[in-house]
Amino acid sequence: MSGSYEDRDGKIWMDGVFVDWRDAKVHVLTHAMHYASSVFEGERAYNGKIFKSREHSERLIASANALDMPMAYSIDDIEAAKAATLRESGLTDAYVRPVVWRGSGEDMGVASAKNPVRMAIAVWGWGAYYGDAKMQGAKLDIAEFKRPSPDTIPVHAKAAGLYMICTISKHKAEAKGCSDALFMDYRGYVAEATGANIFFVKDGEVHTPLPDCFLNGITRQTVVGMLKDRGITVHERHILPDEMEGFEQCWLTGTAAEVTPVGQIGDYTFEVGEITRKTAEAYEKLVRS
Ligand code: PMP
Repeated sequence: MSGSYEDRDGKIWMDGVFVDWRDAKVHVLTHAMHYASSVFEGERAYNGKIFKSREHSERLIASANALDMPMAYSIDDIEAAKAATLRESGLTDAYVRPVVWRGSGEDMGVASAKNPVRMAIAVWGWGAYYGDAKMQGAKLDIAEFKRPSPDTIPVHAKAAGLYMICTISKHKAEAKGCSDALFMDYRGYVAEATGANIFFVKDGEVHTPLPDCFLNGITRQTVVGMLKDRGITVHERHILPDEMEGFEQCWLTGTAAEVTPVGQIGDYTFEVGEITRKTAEAYEKLVRS
């Protein structure tokens, strides 16, 4: 399927009912559009089953709570709605996008308590997030913005507002021929890409940034567990940018990115080595098991 995302066939789940894809609209005075009162999830279904679905639903509720947006749905309600939307799509391998936002209501200022908390779920087919880069090793730019400190914004919420600097940084990266941008955090440590976590390999051991000011991705947690099960030592720690000089391999993890090898970050280069390849293969197997 191609073309505009608003001009497609199918159904979108909206506030408890299915509406025709092209009718899934909101008003221009939607609070979320003005003040970023919006949280979302990105999930993938494989062979008709959403991978780690419950974990994503739990995170969605936690993100909504972090933005003071009380949801009318329980985890079980969300699970049922996602499953129904996937079934309705007729797809077995698909991307699943739940979104929760403050709609249009009596409030048009910053406060939004009088506006309804709304929810929608869309499902569509989405292939490799980085296209061809997936197997060759993606090239990453280094972002100018930093991931913010936890006392400036709810850093663990998957909230629209946290993606503003991601979009700007990714546009700059793509203009330079890169697939993505890597952020440092407010202290200068290596953090994450615009929609994925990062891992490095050195001397057979794996190093990954401590997620103390960014999303502790569900894929990241899965991959850390898989590596430990294989007997590989994983260091979750603060990583300085200069350390990238000594790292041999690198990959990104995320629901959309899955396990994507990285070949270059700024002037640092990495090989698509055995641990990277085996991790990507093992992840592919796990999501379909
Ligand atoms: N960081 C950011 C900023 C992301 O958008 C994502 C994708 N949700 C991730 C990390 C990876 O999270 P997950 O593995 O849960 O998809």
